[in-house]
Amino acid sequence: MNRIGRKKLWQKLLLLDIICIVLLLGGVSYQKIELQTRETVNTIQEKKKVALTFDDGPHPVYTPEMLDVLKEKNVKATFFLLGEQVEKYPDIVKRMSEEGHLIGNHSYKHEQLSKLSSVQACTQVNRTNELIYSVTGKYPEYLRPPFGDWKDRLDCEVNMIEVLWDVDTLDWSSKNKDKVVNKVVTNVEEGDIILMHDSYESTVSATKEIIDILQKDGYEFVTVDELIME
Ligand SMILES: [Zn+2]
Repeated sequence: MNRIGRKKLWQKLLLLDIICIVLLLGGVSYQKIELQTRETVNTIQEKKKVALTFDDGPHPVYTPEMLDVLKEKNVKATFFLLGEQVEKYPDIVKRMSEEGHLIGNHSYKHEQLSKLSSVQACTQVNRTNELIYSVTGKYPEYLRPPFGDWKDRLDCEVNMIEVLWDVDTLDWSSKNKDKVVNKVVTNVEEGDIILMHDSYESTVSATKEIIDILQKDGYEFVTVDELIME
């Protein structure tokens, strides 16, 4: 082999070495990326889902405050609205919808639907659906009957999914922030629906704390449709 030939061989070997190093480094970083991706997927899968739900609104003062809190914490919630309140405060309902919260029906005047005739009960539900549609452009699919009381086999029921709750905060009764927070954090489990009312200052402050505590505990807040569809 002449000098030129040896030089060429040496160059080829060097090139081969470089290619091997590049491939090796590439492989290592690919493995790292793959590992990181797997870890991210696992973290997402490990989050426990829970839904905050608020009934009886919109309230002229506390619903906007609640929306501010949810916006600041980047949390989506579900609001079950009364038709008569939607009529009074359509702008708040519009904001609620624009900010990505789920809007459900809580009847028109908070009457116990099982005590009304079928026609009256259906009117309470349908009138509220129309009012919400006129503001948001979307018909609600979910109904939370006042007092959790709903007559079976009502003609209008077929188009709505009834949503009750797992944790009742009794916030309307205590109107006490610490009691509401405690009730939730000591009772909540994965997949739970939490019942509250956006009609009290104490519930607004409690919601702030509940979000912070549960997020640290690995919970993710979703709207009820996400829990029900699973
Ligand atoms: Zn209610």
